[in-house]
Amino acid sequence: MAFEGLGERLQATMDRIKSKGKVTESDVKVMMREVRLALLEADVNFKVVKQFVNQVKERALGSDVMQSLTPGQQVIKIVKEELTELMGGENQKITLANKPPTVIMMVGLQGAGKTTTAGKLALHLRKNFNKKPMLVAGDIYRPAAIDQLETVGRQIDVPVFSLGDQVKPQQIVTEAMDHAKAEHLDTVIIDTAGRLHIDENLMNELKDIKKIADPHEIMLVVDAMTGQDAVNVAESFNELLDITGVTLTKLDGDTRGGAALSIRSVTEKPIKFVGMSEKMDGLEAFHPDRMAQRILG
Ligand code: GDP
Repeated sequence: MAFEGLGERLQATMDRIKSKGKVTESDVKVMMREVRLALLEADVNFKVVKQFVNQVKERALGSDVMQSLTPGQQVIKIVKEELTELMGGENQKITLANKPPTVIMMVGLQGAGKTTTAGKLALHLRKNFNKKPMLVAGDIYRPAAIDQLETVGRQIDVPVFSLGDQVKPQQIVTEAMDHAKAEHLDTVIIDTAGRLHIDENLMNELKDIKKIADPHEIMLVVDAMTGQDAVNVAESFNELLDITGVTLTKLDGDTRGGAALSIRSVTEKPIKFVGMSEKMDGLEAFHPDRMAQRILG
């Protein structure tokens, strides 16, 4: 299960401080040393850990906390609030256009879960917002990518716009936008090519598509299982494309949690969704407070 090691360690630390009638400065320091180690072991970004620990310490050592009747519980509350804040505070919703169509561009490395998430998002928007989505097959390089998107489209009964693999993605997107308008489809979700690593050709193509489609949402899809690599990927994509949100996939796996806890702070872009299974209904809105609660038990 995700966050297992981190959860256990933080809960044990919190339990030790919870019952204390009096909390000393040294208790807080010992606790924060444990929290720091637990976060580092969960593969949370080094700088993020440092900032987090300092922030909690500063608040926890304030006289209002130390002199309260339940200092242990106050400290735990602060840890929870700061964890929530670290993951972005409030749930951030997907951006929908005032005037249709809403255009969502999916980006990410190969294998992150882009194609799957494109389908999940289409289903989510139809179910919850009554939208009429269309998927666009913009990955012409990976041999099975178009077939995979068409299979996804059939599964959820959403149309897929494809021009095969001999037409440039820029052209495909241009025609897809016209097609959506003509067919009164109010949501266009563009699946783009991924690579194993970030490369310049790919990024130039993605920048072109961004210019053509003028998306309301550039959704970066990253694999939670890849830990700090996911954070580095997010940083690079954000620098080049100015992403608007992140979907963190495979949170149903046994990720230590580093990506979930670091991405927001490193990129300043919110995690909007998490992938909780391979199935089409396995997409959940990301709620930082609920995630913090889950970690702290
Ligand atoms: P793409 O190359 O980025 O388009 O990635 P795919 O959409 O093909 O996904 C790669 C693999 O990850 C597939 O086997 C998906 O079923 C799987 N996958 C995607 N999202 C999730 C998720 O949230 N949980 C789990 N367990 N598997 C996922």
